[in-house]
Amino acid sequence: MSAEKVIIFDTTLRDGEQAAGTRLGAREKLEIARQLTRLKVDVIEAGFPASSPEDFEAVRLISEHIEGPVICGLTRAVAEDIKVCSKAIAKAKRSRIHTGIGVSEIHIAGKFADDKYGKTMGEKQATILKMAVEAVKHSAQYTDDVEFYAEDSGRADRKYLYEVLEAVIEAGATVVNIPDTTGYAIPEQYGALIRDIRANVPNIEKATISVHCHDDLGMAVANSLAGVKNGARQIEGTINGVGERAGNAAIEEIVMAIHTRRDFFEKVETGINTREFYRTSRMVADMLGMPVPANKAVVGRNAFAHSSGIHVDGFLKKRETYEIMRPETIGLAESRVVLTARTGRHGLRHRLEEMGYTLSQQELDKTYERFLAVADKKKEVFSEDIAAIISDEIHVVEQVYELQHLRVVIDTGSTPTASVKIKTREGTKQADACGDGPVDAAYEAIRQATGQSPKLENYSIRAVTAGKEALGEATVRITENGRTFIGRGISTDIIEASARAYIDAINRMVSAKDKGQGPEVKAEL
Ligand code: MN
Repeated sequence: MSAEKVIIFDTTLRDGEQAAGTRLGAREKLEIARQLTRLKVDVIEAGFPASSPEDFEAVRLISEHIEGPVICGLTRAVAEDIKVCSKAIAKAKRSRIHTGIGVSEIHIAGKFADDKYGKTMGEKQATILKMAVEAVKHSAQYTDDVEFYAEDSGRADRKYLYEVLEAVIEAGATVVNIPDTTGYAIPEQYGALIRDIRANVPNIEKATISVHCHDDLGMAVANSLAGVKNGARQIEGTINGVGERAGNAAIEEIVMAIHTRRDFFEKVETGINTREFYRTSRMVADMLGMPVPANKAVVGRNAFAHSSGIHVDGFLKKRETYEIMRPETIGLAESRVVLTARTGRHGLRHRLEEMGYTLSQQELDKTYERFLAVADKKKEVFSEDIAAIISDEIHVVEQVYELQHLRVVIDTGSTPTASVKIKTREGTKQADACGDGPVDAAYEAIRQATGQSPKLENYSIRAVTAGKEALGEATVRITENGRTFIGRGISTDIIEASARAYIDAINRMVSAKDKGQGPEVKAEL
């Protein structure tokens, strides 16, 4: 018996980004979509087009440029959402609309409290069923690939859930998504829900069952796999498990579990190119400003580090003793390729292409210039350094402020002082300030020079690779009027990296203000 394919549905750009506390630019989303294409995910949920003009633009751009995966847009069961979504995905070679509605009594009572939806729960349920069917039929006018999500399925009345699923499949839904939106399920229970749906929805064979799990109790991956064991054939998840609250199911963990435990999951296989996991993970972590914990399964820095003495001894004798997966399988070994100052422009471009980046000539030139400066100080430049340089150089917003000069004086026993020169719209501004520490002093000087004073929420710095000449990458999180912006900066000097990160965040903030962006509608799937 040949194995059945499990569809891998990536929602890093929708559910993942929604939770990161910041918005990626369309250009950044396109780069991630390109990498997801190399990873060979089957479906990319590119965004929720009706939620904001930026999300619309990102979905449109990805639909136009990405070939291979199905490009999917999320909607509520609202005609306007569906219309907007259909426009955003219009240019995709293969497109999908993902629509749906809450089906549990708690959701129905909470979101459809108005009497216009019905006075009793029974009446309201009838209205919701009708809205679900209409949304699917409407979506089917634009694409033959329609997915329906039955939000909060786990807490829904079973008989009603079966009724809704039967009706939406009849209306043309080709995939039915059974999300554990709140991350409340337990594997046995969630598996049983999928099994019961297969046993009780008469036309279920006409649709693919999809699982969408959250990690509030740390069971998103286990729940997803229990769903697959019981007949689900699509899994929704994100890279690194990023997502609302504790996150979504981590795709790399699910796929590597199926891959490594073929003996247990003998009926299924995925089409994923696992060798792209490591670089996909790094790209997503860099762009969202959400570093991967060292002990994270599959893609964590220590996931393949066998440090205990006994382990190392056993490991050297026979790799299989302690290694259930090979680092090459997730592309770890390949990521360490070294470039030096002698690497030419062509060599760099080749490496960038291997890493999944497609840059314009101008972007390549800027990246090359920066690469040479880094190679000069660092001697050996790793893929990780290149990824950091790109995320620092390829700006998604207008550079209203640019750091031209930074000088920081630290003298034990006296207050650190900083002076900056920053290019602004009104010309170069210079400012001097002192602070509790060198970064604090630099930030005060930047505030004075730019006239911007957002609240600094979070600041962190990490070494991009090992060694004393390593690039430092600073990440800052700032807020103003309830909106959050993340900025990143890199340099072999950590104070300079910190200043760059702060200015990057301020540029993103100013760009959002220029566009008059308000808070966006969030999906609760
Ligand atoms: Mn979700």
